[in-house]
Amino acid sequence: MFRRLLLPRNSFGFRQPSTLLHRCAFSSRIYRPDGSAVPVKEELTPLAKHIRDMILATGPISVAKYMQLALTSPIGGYYTKGQGIGRAGDFVTSPEISQMFGEIMAVWFVLHWEMFGRPRDTVFVELGPGRGTLMDDMLRAAQRFPQFYAALKGVHLVERSPELRREQFKKLNCQHEQTEMSNEQTPKRAVTSRGNLPVEWHDVLDEVCTKEAVPLVMAHEFFDALPIYKFERGVDDLWHEILVDVHDSRGQAVEGSTAKLSNSPQSSMALSDAQHFKLVRTRNVSANAALLLRDKHKSFSKGDQIEVSPESAQVMTQLAKWISAQNGMGLVVDYGQDWTQGDTFRGIKSHKFANPLSSPGSMDLTAD
Ligand code: SAH
Repeated sequence: MFRRLLLPRNSFGFRQPSTLLHRCAFSSRIYRPDGSAVPVKEELTPLAKHIRDMILATGPISVAKYMQLALTSPIGGYYTKGQGIGRAGDFVTSPEISQMFGEIMAVWFVLHWEMFGRPRDTVFVELGPGRGTLMDDMLRAAQRFPQFYAALKGVHLVERSPELRREQFKKLNCQHEQTEMSNEQTPKRAVTSRGNLPVEWHDVLDEVCTKEAVPLVMAHEFFDALPIYKFERGVDDLWHEILVDVHDSRGQAVEGSTAKLSNSPQSSMALSDAQHFKLVRTRNVSANAALLLRDKHKSFSKGDQIEVSPESAQVMTQLAKWISAQNGMGLVVDYGQDWTQGDTFRGIKSHKFANPLSSPGSMDLTAD
């Protein structure tokens, strides 16, 4: 791949001395005068350094931990920065393509509200509202059904990213005068000019699960952003965990050999010297494998991979209990196959698949 001809910094943040090294414009290596190659590392951003230091201190981390840090860490997590959604960003979602998506979702809620006997005192709840486009389209469409809208008492948005909260605030045309801000200058409570509905932001679903109203819950491309653990069935017929290690590790607690890396366009996981991180496989059954897989999945063959998202299961269970206790309704939309797949962990950057271990915080990470 063609790279800039400027000499980048090495993994410790120092520039390579240009008198001693020259590099080929088409490779990710610099060459010493004696012909030996020095890999050129990607920039060690504060987040990459944080993850690297964590691994060097305590050993390889789970893919789930890596994903959580790369997406939502306060120091440069991808969603924390909140710039990637939309045509000009890294990926486009259905509501960003057409307003009809949100309008159809609203009609689904109106229809079921009718079927459920028109309950009074409902609230819209959205998990991971992105730029706020979907909720804005849903509210606009819902206003066309005055009786449904009259029953709607507020909007609850579950969103961790301060930057995206600000975007949602703007998109929903919230009024500044009635806004309560958090210490970080992100909105906590506001009123949208769409029918003067109160809007509240939350970090986690637990904060919303009240008994006061009938929840109408929407989650679009939310669950695919939640962290996953990865496991591989070994030749010993046991589940080994795939972990993230530093790429240049020497003499530290690496438990296993480098995991098989797929070069499929789906995972785009080709290992490159430029990256600070690589996947490794535990030699023994890890505690996570023992806890999450137990004796299940005996039908798998040696070499098969599996991805597990306990956080998705936990949020979904909580959602299901709340919705059934309150006679509410929920619409969860995600994209993938309806059978167990092995390796779906991938990065998405500039509308293309990218290696998820490259430059944490610079790309969206998802798993089906
Ligand atoms: N639903 C939107 C955005 C999808 S991107 C759309 O369809 O356009 C995923 C969204 O989930 C982002 O808003 C991101 O900030 C949010 N998110 C990711 N992990 C989260 C978590 N653990 N808790 C709350 N929100 C999260």
